[in-house]
Amino acid sequence: MIKHLLRKKEYVTISKRNFDEVSSKINIPDGKWLNCPKCKNIIYKEDLEKNNNVCINCGYHFNLDSKSRIKNIFDENSFVELFKYILLANPLDFPDYEKKLEDNKKKSGLDEACITGYGFINSKKVCACIMDNRFLMGSMGCTVGEKITSLVEYATDENLPVIIFTTSGGARMQEGIFSLMQMAKISQAISRHSEKRLLYITVITTPTTGGVTASFAMQGDIILAEPGATIGFAGRRVIEGTIKQKLPDEFQTSEFLLEKGFIDKIVKRKDLKNTLSKILKLHGVVENES
Ligand SMILES: [Zn+2]
Repeated sequence: MIKHLLRKKEYVTISKRNFDEVSSKINIPDGKWLNCPKCKNIIYKEDLEKNNNVCINCGYHFNLDSKSRIKNIFDENSFVELFKYILLANPLDFPDYEKKLEDNKKKSGLDEACITGYGFINSKKVCACIMDNRFLMGSMGCTVGEKITSLVEYATDENLPVIIFTTSGGARMQEGIFSLMQMAKISQAISRHSEKRLLYITVITTPTTGGVTASFAMQGDIILAEPGATIGFAGRRVIEGTIKQKLPDEFQTSEFLLEKGFIDKIVKRKDLKNTLSKILKLHGVVENES
């Protein structure tokens, strides 16, 4: 009994090896911080979101989701969604495709990889499609193709300009040839819009690749891009493997494509709304409140 009363206190001991292991690890709570791919700084996610997903240190433009994009570009509460309820299809009976679509719907809170509608930019009415790569990498299947085609046809009937904000992995592989067909379908609708001498602007954001680059992203009367955006058709490794040559480091960036004449202007996200507004004004789009 006395032995128990007089016993020494016991402490947890940390060996030097354990201590070094603990102190060398930075304790970062999951999902709160992220690494900027350009300046490599660790950024607080909330700060990044407040800055419209542009790195506060180096100005790197992270991808922006469609709802934030609408808030960023259109006058307050002016955006009206159109063609929301176009049915999803599985034309090739691709295994588990329906389940994948459902999972993506739940994960992203979106119905598909783009939102279509009209809204006002500094009181000027435009039709717009905003792609979102949180839904199956922003890939273009029948539904995306039908939504964009319907939007362009609507704009043609209503004599309205069209702006498409692109971000996409390209054609949707689960829909095979049917997704490739959307490239021609959308291009034809844009051609009819153009025959009516109506304005079509594309804003290319990171990443825009594959069949989207090869069709409507590059068909704008005016093609804008965000700084540092990845824009291409096939991936770097595929091209290097085919032509057996090393490609330049800046290959497939908006800066490289501006130099080669593929795009007209690089615009920072903070300046995008006013730049679009000026272009619309220069092309005779009048201000209208309703
Ligand atoms: Zn940065």
